[in-house]
Amino acid sequence: MIAKKAFISILVIIFLTSCNFIFNNNNAGIEEVNFGTKKTDLLKIKSFPDNQTPRNIILVIGDGTGINQMTLARLAIGGPDYRLSLDQMPVTGLMLIHSLNDIYTDSAAAGTAWATGFKTKNRYLSMLPDKKNLKTLPEKLSEKGFMSGIVATSSVTHATPAAFYAHIDSRYKEIEIANQLLESPIKVALGGGKEFFDLDKVNAEHTLLLSKTELKSINSKSKVIGLFDEDGIKRSPEKPTQLDMTKFALSHLEQSTKNCSGFFLMSEGSQIDWAGHSNDTNYLINEFIDFDNTIKDLINFVTIDENTLLIVTADHETGGLQVLKQEKGKIIIQWLNGKHTAQPVTVHAYGPGANLFTGVMDNTEIHNKILEIINYKNLQKSKCS
Ligand SMILES: [Zn+2]
Repeated sequence: MIAKKAFISILVIIFLTSCNFIFNNNNAGIEEVNFGTKKTDLLKIKSFPDNQTPRNIILVIGDGTGINQMTLARLAIGGPDYRLSLDQMPVTGLMLIHSLNDIYTDSAAAGTAWATGFKTKNRYLSMLPDKKNLKTLPEKLSEKGFMSGIVATSSVTHATPAAFYAHIDSRYKEIEIANQLLESPIKVALGGGKEFFDLDKVNAEHTLLLSKTELKSINSKSKVIGLFDEDGIKRSPEKPTQLDMTKFALSHLEQSTKNCSGFFLMSEGSQIDWAGHSNDTNYLINEFIDFDNTIKDLINFVTIDENTLLIVTADHETGGLQVLKQEKGKIIIQWLNGKHTAQPVTVHAYGPGANLFTGVMDNTEIHNKILEIINYKNLQKSKCS
């Protein structure tokens, strides 16, 4: 009996000690990261008159990209004095991210806020909790002669891109979402997600691209769907990057909309979020480099085109990343957990109309400001095909 009591006491002590270790281990998630040595590539930034209306809108999303993801990337690429391409965008603001029912948002509710101007419940895509459909930006714009494109390094049916064309009560119904893409006004959709599509059905009415080389050679006027992996795009030299896909989407939209009102393009660095969920620092930095290279290319496009507004933001931060200090020549960082946090995120803008994106704004205001800046209400109805 005494032996049994002693055994139970020992078990209790082991349990309490391990709890103490788990809850008071302040070193959990701490890592050292090397400083980078890259020199800043200073980009040419133009100023635009306050009252200029842009013809085209490009919205770039860094899924899970909080201010500390940017801080870490800046230090790990080139050190404290390095400037990301993102840093060179002249207008900045802060965005509040809460969903309809929670200070925590997922990518579905956040995507819906930008796409429709309404808050909804997490997991819902461009649909209110009472299952009422909300019109998306590409749907609204197609009535006024604009074409739209989406790019993602996740599946094209993943929450953020899907919010721009699908109406459904669960982001996880990706086969239905894939079917809704085929029926939508989206002119070009590039990313992963082959496993969710009936490829014969895609081929019937769309130009289907399945490899990176096809991205370079295609010259089609039809709707284009590019599916470069079964689900999210696994990084490899054979697979297109966010930059590769964004360049293609941009030139396809530019060529197709010569006689139209303009175009809208959404390009997402989707896997910055996945790196945050798995607290994988190298994965995060590699994804961020592609994201920032994409922004660099788009800044240069805006400077030359003079008619395009570029907006960059995030749906939320992922991982509770902290950049703590410098120690023995290293950057010391700490991951809190593998979840989204509720902190606000930044908005960066460049081009005609950028001035509207300063101060503190709600995520739904991104949608409203885009419509305001193109003077949507007063645009004539027209078709662009
Ligand atoms: Zn996430």
